[in-house]
Amino acid sequence: QLDARVRITGRGELSRLGSSFNMMAEAVEQSERRQRQLIADVAHEMRTPLSNLRGYLEGLSDGVIEPSRELFVSLHEETMLQRRILDDLQVLALAEAGDLGYTKTPTDLAELVSGSVTAQRAVAAEAGVALTVDASTPMWAEADQDRIRQVLGNLLTNAIRYTDRDGQILVRVRAEDGEAVLTVQDTGVGIAASDVPHVFDRFWRADPARQRATGGTGLGLTIAHRIVTDHGGRISVESTQHVGTTFTVRLPATGLAFD
Ligand code: ADP
Repeated sequence: QLDARVRITGRGELSRLGSSFNMMAEAVEQSERRQRQLIADVAHEMRTPLSNLRGYLEGLSDGVIEPSRELFVSLHEETMLQRRILDDLQVLALAEAGDLGYTKTPTDLAELVSGSVTAQRAVAAEAGVALTVDASTPMWAEADQDRIRQVLGNLLTNAIRYTDRDGQILVRVRAEDGEAVLTVQDTGVGIAASDVPHVFDRFWRADPARQRATGGTGLGLTIAHRIVTDHGGRISVESTQHVGTTFTVRLPATGLAFD
């Protein structure tokens, strides 16, 4: 690998220029390393669903596997998963390039949350999970509504996914220290303490074997983290295994919240 750094001698103007140059060279190298890692990660993630598909298709054409409705349903799911991985990657790539093109408008988060949760009610009901929303007080923030809906959607989908039947989910919007605070709390499987620092990492998923069946991509939280950060906010998680998980999103509230 090419080393672009220059050798620095003395402490004059020229050596300061040399230091700046070396810092830039380091930044370029770092971004190249990140790109190589991303490509390696994507190749790794796409390989399994693709080999599954290939295996089934070969079995079908060799006559080793009998065509059945269930088989076609699972092949379809496998292709949809790959599609979702690519869609999520595209959002992430745009966000990292600063090209997501946010359109931020004064938004009542309480109203946005109450409105978007409706779509997930049926999914929660089908999973046998009770979904409660506590978002009665208007809470204003500058937000790209579609993107913040996407954040909520990701958190809610996870909460439903990782909560067993008869569990509960509570979605709340409230004010705290001048911030608009959104929490999604579940009584689900939880996350091991040693795993918590990784949940926002790209493609990270607890216990891959178990997760396969849930149809997740391991990118939902990475995207949520990105969108919240791009809104000048923070996202955090607290979790206890077998007890439950709470994701908290804090956005700067606009003055309107206290009118
Ligand atoms: P996925 O598409 O796999 O859900 P995410 O990036 O949304 O990807 O989440 C990463 C991982 O974090 C999940 O695979 C799961 O292991 C864990 N996780 C996320 N949300 C929850 C939750 N509410 N309860 C338990 N584990 C969770």
